This record gives sequence, C-alpha cells and structure tokens, in this order.
Amino acid sequence: MMTTEELLQWDRQHLWHPYTSTIDPLQVYPVKSAKGCTITLEDGTQLIDGMSSWWAALHGYNVPELNEAATAQLQEMSHVMFGGLTHRPAVELAKLLVEKILPEGMDQLFYADSGSVAVEVALKMAIQHRQSVGLRHKRHFVSIRSGYHGDTWHAMSVCDPETSMHSYFAGTLPVQYFVPQPKSRFGGSWDPEDLRPMEALLDTHGDEIAAIIVEPIVQGAGGMYFYHAEYLNRLRQLADHYNCLLIFDEIATGFGRTGQLLATYHTDITPDIICIGKSLTGGYMTLSAVATTKAIADTICGGEAGCFMHGPTFMGNPLACAVAKRSIELLLSKEWQKRVAEIESQLQTGLAPLAAHPDVQEVRVLGAIGVVEMKAPVDMATLIPKFVREGIWVRPFGKLVYLMPPFLAITDEELQKLITGLIHVIND
Ligand SMILES: *Cc1c(COP(=O)(O)O)cnc(C)c1O
Repeated sequence: MMTTEELLQWDRQHLWHPYTSTIDPLQVYPVKSAKGCTITLEDGTQLIDGMSSWWAALHGYNVPELNEAATAQLQEMSHVMFGGLTHRPAVELAKLLVEKILPEGMDQLFYADSGSVAVEVALKMAIQHRQSVGLRHKRHFVSIRSGYHGDTWHAMSVCDPETSMHSYFAGTLPVQYFVPQPKSRFGGSWDPEDLRPMEALLDTHGDEIAAIIVEPIVQGAGGMYFYHAEYLNRLRQLADHYNCLLIFDEIATGFGRTGQLLATYHTDITPDIICIGKSLTGGYMTLSAVATTKAIADTICGGEAGCFMHGPTFMGNPLACAVAKRSIELLLSKEWQKRVAEIESQLQTGLAPLAAHPDVQEVRVLGAIGVVEMKAPVDMATLIPKFVREGIWVRPFGKLVYLMPPFLAITDEELQKLITGLIHVIND
C-alpha cells in the first residue's frame, strides 16, 4: 500500500483535478472517509463539509439507507444495457420523479450520465422538436449572462461567455445569444425593464432561436445569484410568443436546496424541458435525467429520425437509479422544507455581520445556500488552507465564498462552525 506521501506525489504527477494545472497544481487533501457532514483526511484531520460535494450530497456522506440501497442492488446487478432491456430501479425511480418531484405533465423521462450530458440532451431535444414542426431554421439558443450549464461542447456554448471558457475555444464553439442577467432579486420588487433585452433579442433573432435555456431562480457556478421569479413567468410568455421552447436547468437547484423541490415551484409556470442531476442520487454517483411532456416527446419522435437520437452506454444505470430512488424517498420522508428554512435563517443571521466588512460586496442567502461576494477575486491557494485550519471544507471561486452544506445532515452546531470559520478567515 502506498503511503499518504506517495499517494499525493503520484496524484500530483499523473492526475488532473478540476480546472487544475499539471505544471503547478493546487494542493489537494487526501480524504480517508466521510460520514454525516464530516470529511476525514488520511492524517485524521476532520473537516465539516460546507460544499455538499458541489450541490450533491444533500443527506451527507455514508448514509445507512443509501448504503443499503446500493448493497441490495449490487446483489441483483450493477448494470445492464438499457437498449431493449428495462429494470425495476429505472422504472421505480422514474415513477417517483414523475409522481412526486416533477411538475404535472412532465412525464417523459430520459436518463443521462451527468449534468452536462443532460444539457446536451435537452438542447438536442429542442433541435429535433423544431425540425419536426418544420422550424428547421431555429437552431440557436439564448441564455442569460452569468449562467452555467456544464463543460461539454454545446453546454459550454450556453455558459456565460465571459466568466466561462468561451475565449479559449473561440472560433470552434457554436455561437449563441446572451442577454443581461435580470437585476430584480428573488423576493425583492419586480422591474419589468429586466425583460426588455430578451424581448428585443427575440424580436430580431426569434426566427433563429430553438430554445431559451436558464437556471431558474438560482444561477450557480456562474455567479451564485438569485433572481426574481417573475422573470421566469414572463419568459414563458415570450417563449410561447416567439415559438421557442423553454428549458430549465435544475441540475443545481433540484431536490430542496432552494426551499422548494424544484426552483420551478417558485414560479407560476412550467417549462417545456427540465434537466436534473447532481443531488439526484444524494451525491452517491453520477446520474441525470431530462424530463419533458408527452406532446413534445411525441413531436420529436414523429419527425424525420423517428426517434430521439441519443443513447448513452450507461443509460439508466440500475445502481445509480436504486440509490436515487432511496435518496428521494428519504428526502420526502423528512421535514426537509422546515430544515431548509431553519438553515436559511441561521445563515442569514450568521453571515449578516460580514456585510459591513470593507472587502465584502454583498451577503446573500437563499434556502440552504449562503453567499459572500467579495469585492475582488480571492486567492484559492491561500484561502483553502486557512479554511482547513478552521476545520471546515469550503472552496471559493472568483469573488465568491459560499456555504452549501448537506442540509439534511448538518446540525446547528456544525453549521455554526462553518459560519464562524468562514468569518474568521475573511476577517483575517
Ligand atoms: C453542475 C451543473 C451542470 C453540469 O453537471 P455535471 O454533472 O458537472 O456535468 C449543469 N448545469 C448546472 C446548473 C450545474 O450546476
């Protein structure tokens, strides 16, 4: 067995981490195990998790119920192909999603492997749908700035053109349309002016646009920003008027994080396509799904191709589906909404003093998401070791230092430790 030193050295020499250089990689911490909200490093250091492993681990780690679901499914089979075969985990999960999670009428499901692939699938659905109804010229997409939809090709093309990777792939990426982010905040007053740029864009380019794609209410990795639900209500009207589909990317917002099962439920409308992922399996493994209506699915399949043209190798992976089903049952069996509200108020109270800090631009909280936006970008390489010294796991990016704890596992004391640690490091 390699020593921890050897392990880290091998990692450093051979492994890529997310957005990390091979020349001078950012320090990584070797994790031995994780349970509840505690991540234990190889040397025994314990860190309270403030990240939920990127929005995913809503029940925390090493969850007895989810372990049991995985173990039971392993005794049956880990995987079989979904082409021509089906199985209980895929059907039972889909039934639960349709009956308990998704808006009424969104009852046609496509399983994919990751969030980015779900976004690709949604965009392909929109293109095939437009072709089927004789609108072949509608083959571009429009989004709002500061969005994030994943790292694959077309998903990347609808991410914010400045904060994402467009410049590095310029000339090779499909060109999409962008309008400014709505200024009206979630829970604040609604300014109809917010809609003008989208109206103007659709007025000139509506003929080219197959779909509008947005992260509803919460923009995640593109800026951790919370905007007004009325914007989405109005987008529905615009989409209908200009013959565009409306895609909600709920990959980060799904399963309770914002105080609703889906961010869609903060609005009065239903989109045409919804992508879910991340916490779908409670953070156990990768799985995503794309939901749409029977009418849209049948229109796609009534087109030239005669079917929807996508089929991943690991589609509907039974192990992932079994864990996802148990994770959703567990979520629904708890008073999750009450817990999210409590966490929201603890984050609000706890982080409020930072608003007066000279380096802090703004503090904002929604559901189990607490964001401290700094005036200048932070240096991850110096901040992360400081968080580790405080006994907390927090990974800031750009100007954003944020907490997104496993909301169904974290105790008030653990959350307080996260808040206090974060304040210490920012004050330092
Ligand atoms: C994380 C994320 C994705 C991409 O998901 P992956 O599983 O990383 O491919 C897409 N959209 C949103 C809103 C996300 O937060």
